[in-house]
Amino acid sequence: MDNNNDNEWFDDYFEGNNNTDNIDKDTRPQKNTTRHIRWGAIAILVLIILLIALLVFLIAVFKDDIKDDMNKNTSDVPAGAQTGITTTPPTTDTTDPARSDTTTTTTEPEPPKPPYPVEADIEVIDGVTYINGILIVNKTYGLPEWFDPGVDPVAQAKLEEMYAAAAQDGLTLWTASGYRTYEEQRTLYEDYAAVDGYDAADTYSARPGHSEHETGLTFDVNDPSSTFDGTPEAQWLEQHCAEYGFIIRYPKGKEDITGFMYESWHVRYVGEEVAKVVMENGICLEEYFGITSVYSESE
Ligand SMILES: [Zn+2]
Repeated sequence: MDNNNDNEWFDDYFEGNNNTDNIDKDTRPQKNTTRHIRWGAIAILVLIILLIALLVFLIAVFKDDIKDDMNKNTSDVPAGAQTGITTTPPTTDTTDPARSDTTTTTTEPEPPKPPYPVEADIEVIDGVTYINGILIVNKTYGLPEWFDPGVDPVAQAKLEEMYAAAAQDGLTLWTASGYRTYEEQRTLYEDYAAVDGYDAADTYSARPGHSEHETGLTFDVNDPSSTFDGTPEAQWLEQHCAEYGFIIRYPKGKEDITGFMYESWHVRYVGEEVAKVVMENGICLEEYFGITSVYSESE
C-alpha cells in the first residue's frame, strides 16, 4: 500500500497537484491513461530531439566528406560525359603556357641571335684592308696592283679536306678556278666587258683589284656557272663548307649587298668561326661586318 501511495503522489506531483487529499478515486483509471499518453509523448519528444541531435552531429562530422563527394560529382560529370568541355579547358590551358613559352623563347634567344654585324675593326696595311684580321675584298675595298700572295696554304689544305669529305659522301668536287693575279683579273674582266659591256660585266666579274680570286683564299668549285646551282654537289657545298671555314661568298638574295650575282660555286675561306655564323644565319660577309660593296665614282 505504501508503494501505491508513493506512486499516486508521484503522479499527482507531475500533474501539478501536491495535495493528496484531492485524489479522486473515480477519476483514477482516466488519470492512468493520460499518464501513459503523456509519458509516451515525452518519450517520443525526447527521441525526436535525440534524432535531430544525432542528425546535426552526423552532418557536422561528415560535412567535409559530403562536400568532397559533391565536388567529385560535379567535376566527374562534365569530365566523363561532355568531352567537348574537358577538351576545351586543357586546350586553353596548354595554349596559355604555350603562348607564354613562345613569347619567352622568342624574346629570350632573340637578343643574342643576331651575332652580326660584329664590331668591325678595320685595318688598312699598304692598301690591303683587313677587318678583324680577315682580308676583305669587294667593290668598296680593293687590292693594290702589287699584291700577289699566291694560293693561301691554309685555305688550300682546308679545301682538300673538304673535297675528301665530299668524296666520302660519294660526291666529286674539284677546283675549276683558284688564284688569279691582278693582271689575270684585268684580262678576264676586260674580255667580259668587251662582249657584254662594262655594266653587265660588273654584275658577274670583278674589276682588277676587286676580285676575291686575287686573295688566294677563294676557289670556284666544279662548274662556275648557274648550271651548278641545285646540283647535289652544290647542295653539299652549301651545307658543309662552313665546317671547313668556307662561305658561299655571294649568296642568293644578297645581290644588292654583295654587289655580285649568286654564285653557288664560289667559296671563300674566312675560318670556321666566322664561316659558321655567316652560313648558319644565311647572311653575306658584308652583313657580318656591316660594310658596303659599292665601286667608288673614281674607278
Ligand atoms: Zn669565283
